Amino acid sequence: MSRSLPLNVNLTAERPTFVSHLECGLTGERYEADALHGLSNAGRPLLVRYDLAGVAAAIDRAEMAARPRDLWRWREVLPVRRAENIISLGEADTPVIALDKVAGAAGASAGTLLVKDEGRLPTGSFKARGLVMAISMAKELGVTSIAMPTNGNAGAAAAAYATQAGIEAIIFCPDDTPEINVREIAAQGARVYRVNGLIDDCGKLVREGAAANGWFDLSTLKEPYRIEGKKTMGLELAEQFGWELPDVIFYPTGGGTGLIGMWKAFAELQAIGWIACKLPRMVAVQAEGCAPMVRAWEAGERHAARWEDAATIAAGIRVPQAVGDFLILDAVRESNGRAMAVSDAAIQQAVDDAARSDGLLLCPEGGATLAAWRQARAEGWVKDGETALLFNCATGLKYPLPDASQTLDRHAAIDFTRL
Ligand SMILES: *Cc1c(COP(=O)(O)O)cnc(C)c1O
Repeated sequence: MSRSLPLNVNLTAERPTFVSHLECGLTGERYEADALHGLSNAGRPLLVRYDLAGVAAAIDRAEMAARPRDLWRWREVLPVRRAENIISLGEADTPVIALDKVAGAAGASAGTLLVKDEGRLPTGSFKARGLVMAISMAKELGVTSIAMPTNGNAGAAAAAYATQAGIEAIIFCPDDTPEINVREIAAQGARVYRVNGLIDDCGKLVREGAAANGWFDLSTLKEPYRIEGKKTMGLELAEQFGWELPDVIFYPTGGGTGLIGMWKAFAELQAIGWIACKLPRMVAVQAEGCAPMVRAWEAGERHAARWEDAATIAAGIRVPQAVGDFLILDAVRESNGRAMAVSDAAIQQAVDDAARSDGLLLCPEGGATLAAWRQARAEGWVKDGETALLFNCATGLKYPLPDASQTLDRHAAIDFTRL
């Protein structure tokens, strides 16, 4: 038995999962489970469906919550059928941290501005949640090589889990992807290529390479299981909030897997009967230099056109076009949420402020959610006393930090009164 397997996995048992079938997120067309699928015939994401009455009869929420604190405790509402296909680098629960000083500076009460810090996950980002599931399922379904486009973090998680699963990984990233990401992908055993284009240009190479070489295309939402892994953010949040939920969730939106996944999680929790609370307003946060969802939301459209010349310091949300656009926009609308764009300057300011006043180093994408909260609060859209939850999706340490140090010559006289 691998020592990295989570404690709650019984390797000898056929694990119960309650997957019934898959269906096209756009047309509802049914597909059988336990077969390898990419997009639906309509070219749209497939969603995994479960026998939720069966889940309700099989286990109660207290029993689930009493299991070891990692993502695999949700196994009845996850797709993997056989324990031997589970891979893991230790996907522990992530903490929820209050930014009380930043909140106070905006006139908000302590405990109302919270951050779910996903930077604590394996490979330093919440991409681990999606990729541990997608690659466990790829293994279960007999895949031997995967390819994906990435802005960095997804590639790193894919590389790590594919290596653990013994699956070959070929990764394509824009040539200006943060250096640490490009290097960690290679360090974790994948072949990585820098491409002179954006993530959707890389996606095109994956499609062509998949056709030519038989790679399985693991692009965001182009296979059904990453969203199931990301869904655990919603399950975990509900449990962390005592089976209630915050009033508003701010999510930095690229491909939107996490936002869609959480919205799906809330619907499943309601159907199982584990939550009865009001659902959060979902806010899709984008950067002003790449805001296709914001433009579509403002225009009242269900699909979003490609954003040309996308540019932002928040690499993880530099996604000009998303195949799950309608799922993002549906969730935002159904929840009475909104889509918001923030400037790179506001993102940088938010990162600096959270680190300097509350000691939490956000990644730029996390900073974008704080910038959006500030704006929404200033507009009165987030009201006094409302609890807002921000997503910090990766550790701030993955990004280059400014050097604010000074040098000292230990051989010279030092005037300590000036230090
Ligand atoms: C991938 C990523 C996002 C966007 O997540 P999606 O679910 O694809 O929208 C945001 N922030 C970081 C740090 C990321 O790596």
